[in-house]
Amino acid sequence: MKITDHIAQSGGKTLFSFELLPPTKGKSIHSIYDAIDPLMEFKPPFIDVTYHREDYIYKQHESGLLEKISYRKRPGTVAICAAIMNKYKVDAVPHLICGGFTKEETENALIDLQFLGIDNVLVLRGDARQADTNFIPTAGGHNYASDLLQQVVNMNQGKYLHEDHEAFKTDFCIGVAGYPEKHFEAPNLKSDFKFLKKKVDKGANFIVTQMFYDNQKYIEFVKKCREHEIHVPIIPGLKPITSSKQLVSLPKIFHIDIPEELSEAIQACKSEAEVKEVGIEHMIAQCQELIKLGAPVLHFYTMSNPNPTKRIAAALF
Ligand code: FAD
Repeated sequence: MKITDHIAQSGGKTLFSFELLPPTKGKSIHSIYDAIDPLMEFKPPFIDVTYHREDYIYKQHESGLLEKISYRKRPGTVAICAAIMNKYKVDAVPHLICGGFTKEETENALIDLQFLGIDNVLVLRGDARQADTNFIPTAGGHNYASDLLQQVVNMNQGKYLHEDHEAFKTDFCIGVAGYPEKHFEAPNLKSDFKFLKKKVDKGANFIVTQMFYDNQKYIEFVKKCREHEIHVPIIPGLKPITSSKQLVSLPKIFHIDIPEELSEAIQACKSEAEVKEVGIEHMIAQCQELIKLGAPVLHFYTMSNPNPTKRIAAALF
């Protein structure tokens, strides 16, 4: 079922959902089930699975020569989605990224997804490879999420890359990313909104936000979206802080602010266990307000560790 239909049928009640990372190569599908099982009691109507572009590793040969190898650490997004749908009977939402795919490969992946009965996709540009300072598009692939989105919209209309297939239209409900604190590469918020609106005008059906720790950022983001005639559901993305290291790593990786009150409370903690408590309590309070504000879904970035999210969901749902 489409995410927009889940929201429409919720009767205004805030839903619960979460995101998982595919396990690193060498781990079994059971690590995914272990990350899902503790959260199923909160009845998520959908579960997202991220997609990770290949990176480079260097392999040293006996001669001493280094060979540069393209290596995907976390493969399996599509198969994990199929396994989730089969085992839990909930919708799985694969993330689709521009980086690492030609348009032909994207077309084939979308056909696979349709055959598997997957109704939703979250389309993204994708992160830069760790070895690259900036995002480098794949030759024959897409530069921006809006280009990838256009390809999905075209297929929904039966327009494939090289021919039309009126009888075989896909019917994907399409999500895109939004950044309450601005995407880090955008020169200013206005420019970022221009391109977010472009994604929605082209056919995005819902937005999932980057994480934030101050609800005011979400409130202002939703307000600005509506002022820009962006009327699709805006799903807040949330991640509790669970370690003191994240005071530095989260702003660095995700380009978000941690409010002074929260950072000071974390700095005052005497142990990591105390930090976790502060992070979880802050997130519960944040979520309670988001529910009051009528957020359609609370979407948790679990990083495949279900325990903090379970504590929060137990307090809310
Ligand atoms: P875009 O919408 O393409 O925007 C990228 C930047 O370019 C922005 O600054 C935008 O303002 C600008 N821009 C857009 N269009 C144009 C244009 N036509 N001309 C000039 N500038 C333009 N990454 C992964 O690798 N895998 C994942 O699974 C994943 N999941 C995510 C889920 C969510 C909810 C979020 C918020 C992010 C996720 N990311 C993921 C990270 C995301 O890929 C990065 O933030 C990436 O840098 C931007 O992706 P985007 O889809 O927002 O890009």
